[in-house]
Amino acid sequence: MKHMIRYLKSGLILLLLSFSTLTLAGSEHAGAHWGYVDGTGPAHWGDMKHEFSTCKTGKHQSPINISATHNASLPTIRFSYKATPLNVVNNGHTIQVNYAPGSHITVAGKQYELLQFHFHSPSEHEINGKPADMVAHLVHKAADGQLAVVAVLMKKGASNPLIEKIWKHMPSHKGEYSKAAIKINVSDLLPKDKAYYHYSGSLTTPPCSEGVNWMLLKNKVDVAPAQVAAFIDIFPKSTRPVQPLNGRTIEVSH
Ligand SMILES: [Zn+2]
Repeated sequence: MKHMIRYLKSGLILLLLSFSTLTLAGSEHAGAHWGYVDGTGPAHWGDMKHEFSTCKTGKHQSPINISATHNASLPTIRFSYKATPLNVVNNGHTIQVNYAPGSHITVAGKQYELLQFHFHSPSEHEINGKPADMVAHLVHKAADGQLAVVAVLMKKGASNPLIEKIWKHMPSHKGEYSKAAIKINVSDLLPKDKAYYHYSGSLTTPPCSEGVNWMLLKNKVDVAPAQVAAFIDIFPKSTRPVQPLNGRTIEVSH
């Protein structure tokens, strides 16, 4: 019996220590098979489910093309990110890194907790009509439920050390996740200069909910061409087209 327990214990420890790629059974939302091409692509999202109707009827949608901007005294984004155990999910649309509780940003005295970050390539937002090679969306939520997304735009250049860590454990199939016995800190992804564009928009995926506080960092960080290619290999399309501005103002730090 003692041997048995010892055997079970060591097995359990091995299981916990090993890099495990497991399948998330039953985590799919039934009937929500939206995508980026053909009949399930962005043009059809609003008709697929009642819950997705804002994708079609919303007037403050994201992403947008950022061209005419207004200089403003935007509040500094105060980043307070801690290291988190690496927990990467392939949700069928993108690679998402879930964040442990306790990391947040503070903007104008309001605190938003970091929930997860994920990627799109090319970037969804455009600057003067041009997307960046890739983008990370850092998704936060305040106590009152308001969402804030910080976008870190990336341009092809040097290898990105944080992406390298994540890609090493990137699950290539939908529904898989990887948990590795390492920690990562998304603050490693931020550019030094935190000047940003700000406007009010939406989620860029169904249900396209509005009231999202968008903050796009002006300064791009490097990502290796091979790192972008590795992502596109799994997700050839991950970008919603730009949406009408409908009179919204885009502010920029000066
Ligand atoms: Zn996104």
